Amino acid sequence: MNQSKRDIRAFTKEELRRIFEENGDQAFRGNQVYEWLWQKGVHSFEAMTNLPKATREMLDKHFVINHIKVDVMQRSDDGTIKNAVRLHDGLLVESVLIPTDTRTTACVSSQVGCSLNCSFCATARLKRMRNLLPDEIFDQVRVIDEQSKAFFGRPLSNIVFMGMGEPLMNYNNVLKAIDKITSAEGLGMSAKRITLSTSGVPKLIKKMADDEVKFKLAVSLHSAIDSVRTSIMPFNEQFPLSELREALQYWYQKTKNRITYEYVVWKGINDQRKDVEALIKFCKFAPSKVNLIEYNPIDDGEFQQADSRALTLYQTMLEEAGITVTVRHSRGKDIDAACGQLANKTTKN
Ligand code: SAH
Repeated sequence: MNQSKRDIRAFTKEELRRIFEENGDQAFRGNQVYEWLWQKGVHSFEAMTNLPKATREMLDKHFVINHIKVDVMQRSDDGTIKNAVRLHDGLLVESVLIPTDTRTTACVSSQVGCSLNCSFCATARLKRMRNLLPDEIFDQVRVIDEQSKAFFGRPLSNIVFMGMGEPLMNYNNVLKAIDKITSAEGLGMSAKRITLSTSGVPKLIKKMADDEVKFKLAVSLHSAIDSVRTSIMPFNEQFPLSELREALQYWYQKTKNRITYEYVVWKGINDQRKDVEALIKFCKFAPSKVNLIEYNPIDDGEFQQADSRALTLYQTMLEEAGITVTVRHSRGKDIDAACGQLANKTTKN
């Protein structure tokens, strides 16, 4: 990439209008360029066919469109598609398309690598290298929308921020991307169909509530006992459950949106009655439901999925306590596309 050229998608519509005005051109050209970039998603200035040729050349001289490229696309036996996505600086992230009978869900990444070090997650083995830009997050969604139309004959219906990275550690860019995804000038998707999944940074959960976001919130809980949670998610030491709980109560008061807790049950870690009791108590702090996620092994055998007796214990005890619980089976395991398996295995960096 030519370093002197500027990323055109870093500019707001108003800024683009001003650029044209300052160049002695008409401001509405800014609107046209903005529409080509965000609504039509073109990859080159050449494709902006309602602009005069000289204008397209001027843009090409000074700006660049850093569109992502799908390096490798893998298809699972169950229809899941995993994309290894090359960024403009050569780094890689992964994003996944998950089809069901009625929906297509995009699972997108928010960072290259991750800084959180959860001991059961493959992404944690990569160090965090950088935050994704709003347009790099947006492009993952657009690419999956196109794949959904091409392979399943329907547009993308849902988005989950459950790919690589911790979305709240890239707060501004993730919110900007969601803004573009939901805006009529972008993809026009409903925010209610978007779920942000976080390990739980209390002050940023509160900030989201203050910013009146309209998307849904999922929290990767995995244990409601501090010592256990810290042993598998070291980040819990810094942000203990009492602070998380307070932030979630604040979230619910402000948004009236119920919280989803993601939870894996591991053998010998959180498979006892006391673990379920702690979870039930935690669930009572704010309206919530529990997704029991199947564990996807990440090769060193340190963690093992609990046996079915433990899972049944969780299910029955939660149900008896009046808490909604669903069991989610993983998709795309054969291509390492399931939760926690995203680690750029297929492609060398
Ligand atoms: N950092 C965010 C989003 C990425 S992880 C978060 O923590 O929520 C998406 C989900 O996959 C999280 O619930 C995470 O705890 C879970 N996960 C990570 N590794 C996993 C594994 N090996 N098997 C099953 N789920 C896993």
